[in-house]
Amino acid sequence: MTALLSLSALRKRYRARRALDGLTLDMAPGEALALLGPTGAGKTTTLMAVAGLVALDGGTVTMAGRDVTWAHPATRDVAMVFEGFNLLPALDVKGNIGFALRSPAFREDEAEIASRTGRVAELLRISHLLDRDVTTLSGGEKQRVAIARALVRRPRLLLLDEPLSALDLKLREGLRAELREIHARRRTTMLYATHDYHGAVAITDRLAVIDGGRVRQRGSLPEILASPADMTVGRLIGSPAMAFFAVRINGRRVQAEGIDFRAPLTAPGGAGAAQALTLGVWPEDITLTPGSGGRVSAVDNRGFEMAVQVETAAGSFRKALPEGRGLSQGDSCRITLAAGAGFLFDRATGARIPCRGGRP
Ligand code: ATP
Repeated sequence: MTALLSLSALRKRYRARRALDGLTLDMAPGEALALLGPTGAGKTTTLMAVAGLVALDGGTVTMAGRDVTWAHPATRDVAMVFEGFNLLPALDVKGNIGFALRSPAFREDEAEIASRTGRVAELLRISHLLDRDVTTLSGGEKQRVAIARALVRRPRLLLLDEPLSALDLKLREGLRAELREIHARRRTTMLYATHDYHGAVAITDRLAVIDGGRVRQRGSLPEILASPADMTVGRLIGSPAMAFFAVRINGRRVQAEGIDFRAPLTAPGGAGAAQALTLGVWPEDITLTPGSGGRVSAVDNRGFEMAVQVETAAGSFRKALPEGRGLSQGDSCRITLAAGAGFLFDRATGARIPCRGGRP
């Protein structure tokens, strides 16, 4: 199948700052993909490159087989929703939603505009707001109008740039669920940029992890959990994220102070004692029991679950625990890793090192 969107080796510098550094990414038609990365990773620049709002220094943007790298934004059939809403204060809600359809690019007739505006308003549950002045809306309502305004155009590709981060938690969760639903119903191809892991997986389980202007890994959540490409991916995926421990190589045995490996990990041939290695483990693969090796330095009640911060000689980590699992601040604990758990990384480069005993 021809990719709907194909970004190849995109480069962009803002003076000395490199925003995109050979970014490559493909999207299939109808796919919803979260572009997950920390602040400054290059998410907004990527979306702007797709929309045609930034002049690239290198690389190509292809949409449905057509090279649009230098095509005018209006010819790309892409709609972008920014965090800042960008609503037009002089128009009411329905005027804002229908605005693009009245532009020279669409020139739809008024009956068609009214019908499409009505349908998209229903989808986003804002039908009762259509006659309201946009300046009187709450943040969540404005956000819905901004999404409706993008969707009403039926774009080939919908770009969402952290559109929900200004909203309170409850509204954000509601809108995320609705975006997932809208995607399921309409199959609009959707690229959703966020720094929030929860937000990313609430909307889709297909992820592209971006950092330093490059896509580090792309795949479904289970694929990434089974085989994280590097330490950056480990830091960004999961809640809490991956636990890291400094390890020593003894012969070919991998050892970390105070940690039991149920099945011993075996380092690759070339990995000597001199190579600084880090073991990364998903917190779900760690069991804490009374004993020695670690110390609970903080307990954080997150409402729906508890999280503990554990310090060890080899590194510290956070782990969520089901409520009522009696660990208190200051408790000592033994750390056991599930059989086969853990991934080895080169501490200097963050790159994954294949090892036996661990997962592939
Ligand atoms: P955030 O989550 O904070 O929005 P991001 O992943 O969207 O971050 P970008 O906005 O794409 O990141 O920025 C990538 C890099 O380029 C950052 O280092 C940023 O400071 C820099 N940058 C972005 N826009 C400009 C600009 N107009 N002028 C100078 N530097 C810029």
